[in-house]
Amino acid sequence: MLARYFLRGSGPLQMIYLQINPTVMPLKPITANTRGEKKIYLLKPRGFCAGVVRAIDVVKIALNLYGPPVYVRKEIVHNKHVVDELRGLGAIFVEELEEVPSGARAIFSAHGVSPEVRRQGKERNLAVIDATCPLVTKVHLEAVKFAREGYTIVLIGHKNHDEVIGTLGEAPAKMILVESVADVDALTLDDPSRVAYLTQTTLSLDETKDIVARLEERFPMIRGPKSQDICYATENRQMAVKGVSEFCELILVVGSANSSNSKRLVEVGQNYGVRAYLVNDWSDVHPEWLEGIKSVGVTAGASAPEHLVEQIVAALNEKGFGDLEEVEMVEEDVRFSLPPELAGASSQLYGISAPSR
Ligand code: SF4
Repeated sequence: MLARYFLRGSGPLQMIYLQINPTVMPLKPITANTRGEKKIYLLKPRGFCAGVVRAIDVVKIALNLYGPPVYVRKEIVHNKHVVDELRGLGAIFVEELEEVPSGARAIFSAHGVSPEVRRQGKERNLAVIDATCPLVTKVHLEAVKFAREGYTIVLIGHKNHDEVIGTLGEAPAKMILVESVADVDALTLDDPSRVAYLTQTTLSLDETKDIVARLEERFPMIRGPKSQDICYATENRQMAVKGVSEFCELILVVGSANSSNSKRLVEVGQNYGVRAYLVNDWSDVHPEWLEGIKSVGVTAGASAPEHLVEQIVAALNEKGFGDLEEVEMVEEDVRFSLPPELAGASSQLYGISAPSR
């Protein structure tokens, strides 16, 4: 089922579609590995989400339209392979805008930025293209709204993550970050009757549920977002891991160490009793992990390219994992329009990134 939402950002109205997942049942029953052959369960949805596809397209289109160099503030998405590929095409990645020459073209990453960074962009007279994922923008808008209404906002998220830094920047004097139930227990608020909470988009659903429950216990009048902030891609990939966990002895999650949603997939697998590891690519897979193993689940975080998954499946195949079953938990068909700065360039959409060579 799809729900349609409209977002108003700095540019024209953006239409986005969010998937509503009414069930955690796989679309087709999962077959237990009773034959004892070595089997791969390939999870779906996996890999690139709509926000990541859009952000990569933004960089490629900007390079194509304007030519290099195009500066990108922070990793456009948290994946080394993606960043290396774009660097090879002429993108220059910087940590802060002060590294960008005045008047140059700069792209903001999918994780979003604070108003202060936008101000710096204007001050340096940069031609900014904003690749912030619309679902991150949704959280920013909620923060602004609650702050205007006089709420103290408790943001559930991970300290120092780019997305969290950007969201906190919307109302720094009114927002408090919590990472755990213990952090909620330690909260002291001036007006406990006027509190709201928001979350990072890429958290563990289970862990966040516990933190929200504790917030509601401590602050019965607390308000939350109209629809959950954890995004459809995070939710769907976690559901797929849960769904397959009883069938797998091992789960390999393709993703980078700084990718929040990828790390959450590993934790979900482990919480459901499966050995699970985060790997950049096949070279990270330790041979001993596969010793005595008959069933391996393979998935990828929202910023990990599909060719790395294919590489792992092929390598497992060579190791005798000859049986492959794709487990589809939910149909995912979400797309975001390009940012207003690139309106009119949609004929140049690249879609999924090509393999790095
Ligand atoms: Fe957007 Fe979710 Fe993808 Fe992050 S993981 S870029 S919030 S769709």
